[in-house]
Amino acid sequence: MPNSILLSSPLFEGNEQKYVENVLKSPYIAAGGTFLDEFEKGFSVRLFPHNLVALNSGTSAIHIALMLLGVEAGDEVICQSFTFCASANPIVYLGALPVFVDSEEDTWNICPEALEIAIKDRLAKGKKPKAIIVVDLFGMPAKYDELFAISQHYGIPILEDAAESLGSLYKGQVCGSLGEIGIFSFNGNKIITTGTGGGLISDNPLILEKARFLASQAREKVHYFEHHTVGYNYRMGNVAAAIGKAQLETLDQKVEQRRAVYDRYKVLLSEFEGIFFLEEPEGFKSNRWLTTVLIDPQITGFDKEDLRSALEKENIESRYLWKPLHLQVAFKDSPYYGGNVALQIYGKGLCLPSSSHISEEEQKQVVLTIANQYQKVSD
Ligand SMILES: *Cc1c(COP(=O)(O)O)cnc(C)c1O
Repeated sequence: MPNSILLSSPLFEGNEQKYVENVLKSPYIAAGGTFLDEFEKGFSVRLFPHNLVALNSGTSAIHIALMLLGVEAGDEVICQSFTFCASANPIVYLGALPVFVDSEEDTWNICPEALEIAIKDRLAKGKKPKAIIVVDLFGMPAKYDELFAISQHYGIPILEDAAESLGSLYKGQVCGSLGEIGIFSFNGNKIITTGTGGGLISDNPLILEKARFLASQAREKVHYFEHHTVGYNYRMGNVAAAIGKAQLETLDQKVEQRRAVYDRYKVLLSEFEGIFFLEEPEGFKSNRWLTTVLIDPQITGFDKEDLRSALEKENIESRYLWKPLHLQVAFKDSPYYGGNVALQIYGKGLCLPSSSHISEEEQKQVVLTIANQYQKVSD
């Protein structure tokens, strides 16, 4: 649709075309090839001493990560409830049970107190959870100091779902490198994209090697086809990696742009009562993948759906926050620990258009539509 303002659209204004043309002149378009190596090396520099194995999606990265953390059929895995379904789906692929935990209000991520209550109760029921999936939602890091303490105390590793937080920092440490294993997504609307794609992050060479092995059909290192385990076809292809290498070159710029988009919304909306932004706690740096606002209908006189549909009429795409997974029919058999924090945030939340390249003019259009909504209510 012409003149539409999208939620989060990709932009290829760097070396993408050139690199892809390069790949197409070579026979190496599948998994394996120089761009795949270079894409991964680009992360080694950023993540040192961690490294990344490039995969075909963030979901497959979580699947492999859970296998490497020893999750098997009949196990339990704790997962932040307030997240996209892909955080938890791989638990079910493995025949394990997701156990969902509520969020806290400062970062919207897994609540350390509720997490500890969940672990104690699962232990009392005779099951020790195999892993804790922590998500850095919309780019905001979780409360890792508190989470590390719990993880260590109970001996349960953290899997960091950093699908939305590439370029974010927690007390100077890069998101993706905070858990025992981390994952990124390079899906189409993420901060950088390879079309579809993902990556698994670890500082343990053995884990990285096993991830490569499992993601490449578990092919043994001989010149013929020898397999001792069942593997997966989860590696990233060289065409995607060529796009990814070019995208990664512009990551820092994109983070600054997304943060500027957030800052601009905040200034433009500062006069409007009843609209709230998620602030960064001391030591937290979000990539501001999406700018999210909470609308208090008691103050504004309109709710998130009124605003979403008003924006839609102007060809402006906005979206609800993730619906908590403990409320999804797909996970109706999963236990849940916590209160209504995630539910309340979900009830008030809306993601505003946040592309790195959204113009000031377009942001003003979004704000004008919001202003009109106030006007309509007071009329
Ligand atoms: C996008 C996303 C994923 C999944 O990544 P894909 O590359 O789409 O498979 C996982 N978790 C979260 C929180 C995400 O936003």
